[in-house]
Amino acid sequence: MALATALVVALDGAALAQTPPPPSAPLVKVEDLQRLSAHVQVIPDKSARLVSNIGFIAGSRAVLVVDTGLGPRNGAAVHALAKKLAGGKAIYLVATHARPEHDLGGQSFPAGTTMFRSADQAANKDNDLAVAKTFSAGSPAAAELLAGAVFREADVAFANSRRIDLGGLWVTLTALGPAHTAGDTIVWVEDDRVLFSGDLAMKAQPAITTPKAACITGATSWASWRR
Ligand SMILES: [Zn+2]
Repeated sequence: MALATALVVALDGAALAQTPPPPSAPLVKVEDLQRLSAHVQVIPDKSARLVSNIGFIAGSRAVLVVDTGLGPRNGAAVHALAKKLAGGKAIYLVATHARPEHDLGGQSFPAGTTMFRSADQAANKDNDLAVAKTFSAGSPAAAELLAGAVFREADVAFANSRRIDLGGLWVTLTALGPAHTAGDTIVWVEDDRVLFSGDLAMKAQPAITTPKAACITGATSWASWRR
């Protein structure tokens, strides 16, 4: 059955908190945008600390953005690129989990954006903001980027799974928490065989942070996991 042929693997900022500070601020580099498949483009994190992979999944009617980058400035840059890619289509937003480098740029997306969050992710708000304080205390660059950051509430909350029609392209959001955090969400683009795993699968240890994720990122197919 359908094996994920492309897996967007993240690097966890918290896991690398003890590494030396980077020479530059943790900015999402929009110029690094690359096409992954027919409907998916990504800005890879390139293993930069406190930077997340950013995804853009485009159907004929809407573009779904996966993760925002750290704080309002990164969120604004990601939104500007999303708007350009959308070309007038609706913009949807989802966070793989409630951690500052993944979702605390959400406020820079305008009110017309539809944000999806799993219920357990939404409930992780206080922890998200607490981690932001930790990041800020450990890095002046992070503190600058996180200044004024607020948690964007969900426009659409779901309990376990939610399918989104982007126009000729269906995307499935599935809540897999608690695992890496209390509210991890994976994003599956079935037509393209692309999975955004968030930090459930990372280059940093641990490589796989939930047995469920191991099933879909390892040798077992998505279809068998769904059984
Ligand atoms: Zn994480």
